[in-house]
Amino acid sequence: MRVGALALQGDFREHLAIIEGLGHIGVEVRTPEELDDVDALIVPGGESTTIGRLATIYGLIEPVRRRIEEGMPVLGTCAGMIFLATSTTGPDQPQLGVLDAVVERNAFGRQVDSFEMALDVTGLDGPIHAVFIRAPWIDKVGGSVEVLATVADPETGRDRPVVVRQDNIVATSFHPELTSDGRLHELFLGDH
Ligand code: GLN
Repeated sequence: MRVGALALQGDFREHLAIIEGLGHIGVEVRTPEELDDVDALIVPGGESTTIGRLATIYGLIEPVRRRIEEGMPVLGTCAGMIFLATSTTGPDQPQLGVLDAVVERNAFGRQVDSFEMALDVTGLDGPIHAVFIRAPWIDKVGGSVEVLATVADPETGRDRPVVVRQDNIVATSFHPELTSDGRLHELFLGDH
């Protein structure tokens, strides 16, 4: 499979290394033409307002949205999750609005900026080592969104979704590309 990573900002190279390790072809996507040439897309972590601003400038918002609505598998991680979602709990920013979810940016930041944990994810055999960096969580999901993993809010103890799936869309709050574990990438590609 030719798997693209949106290469505007953030850690797209680490994602493409995992993709190549799984035996797929990794492609950097910066233009609508490059998007046409991939079978699946990763929106990496980074800074979601920057990714949104650059995607607007590069004319990628509509083409990416269309491909996802047509069923292209997409994985959004951290800032990528924010970019895929309908809205945030904060001020407006450019978003694709394909994932029926309201996301809270820097949600764990009130307590801790970054942390790592072993996280159980529905559909994966055994926990995944999850690296959270100024991570969002999901505040609300629509009815078509399946929650695959949650983390307890450090303040209230309430479970907050951190891995979700909606049809061809998988989104994670953490950074699966920062470990050598490719299982989340296999999950979004339907490889197992
Ligand atoms: N805090 C960033 C944002 O809100 C996301 C952080 C990340 O991708 N590691 O866009």
